[in-house]
Amino acid sequence: MTLLDGKKTSEAIQNEIAAEVAELKANGYKTPHLAAVLVGNDGGSVTYVNNKVLACEKVGFSSSLIRYEDTVTEAELLQKIKELNEDEEIDGFIVQLPLPKHIDSEKVIESIDPRKDVDGFHPTNVGRMVAGLPAYLPATPAGILQLLERYQIETKGKHCVVIGRSNIVGSPMSILMAKAAYPGNATVTLCHRNTVDLANYTRQADIIIAAVGQPGLVTADMVKDGAVVIDVGTTRVPDATRKAGYRLRGDVDFDSVAEKCSFITPVPGGVGPLTIAMLLKNTLKAAKQEVYA
Ligand code: NAD
Repeated sequence: MTLLDGKKTSEAIQNEIAAEVAELKANGYKTPHLAAVLVGNDGGSVTYVNNKVLACEKVGFSSSLIRYEDTVTEAELLQKIKELNEDEEIDGFIVQLPLPKHIDSEKVIESIDPRKDVDGFHPTNVGRMVAGLPAYLPATPAGILQLLERYQIETKGKHCVVIGRSNIVGSPMSILMAKAAYPGNATVTLCHRNTVDLANYTRQADIIIAAVGQPGLVTADMVKDGAVVIDVGTTRVPDATRKAGYRLRGDVDFDSVAEKCSFITPVPGGVGPLTIAMLLKNTLKAAKQEVYA
């Protein structure tokens, strides 16, 4: 069994980005600039956004963190997005989800200029991805593709079972794995909460990608020998032995499943670090105007 080391892979990607940024700057181009909008004080979101901003510094980007209390109105938020759309200094920006209930997330996403939508959530980028046109790919699925590629995992003709159909992970993942590309060219089954007898599908899978948010959902009896298992799930579970009072658990029962796998991602240290690296990669693309020429 080989552990898919997301941390190491993410560092390699970030080093490549840093080298490219240094070259851009040496050639007189502007420093790529990512802005992040954060609403409220949710622990998870604060950590994610802080990590994104820190990662920007590491690769030599400029970054801005724009924070609002969770009482911010939708109109105020939309006004800020308009400013960011028009600000030539900002190459790309993200609005950290989830947003408070009184704000319409879809409306917020649709108000982002697709050329600056480095999360790849705007319907224009989603549509372009589906159509096979240049687009910002959502960071988590894009990171999983990088892991598969950098570990030279064969995907052509394989049966890939994706569990979870969210707009940010499961759905785009299923589309990308079926594309005529590498990684891709897989036969894809998309499972979700209404799937009857999930194990019946996972047992047939050469590649399982679990993006559910249910700790330990995938157990050893659901996995065939030699499968590749990618665990996107990151659920905080109480743990009194940790200073933070919790630890992260994936959707896969790692200890029992790992014994049967050819490749598996750990949680943490698997898919998570790749997500940040791919956000930076999208920002670099935005700065270089590679996607929308
Ligand atoms: P979500 O919470 O929006 O949706 C969960 C999906 O799981 C739904 O499509 C639902 O149909 C499906 N589902 C629920 N119960 C199921 C069951 N018993 N069997 C089969 N399918 C079931 O999903 P999300 O936003 O994609 O997040 C999924 C998990 O991935 C969460 O733990 C989240 O924290 C994590 N995540 C991690 C990263 C990362 O960078 N590592 C990024 C995004 C999300």
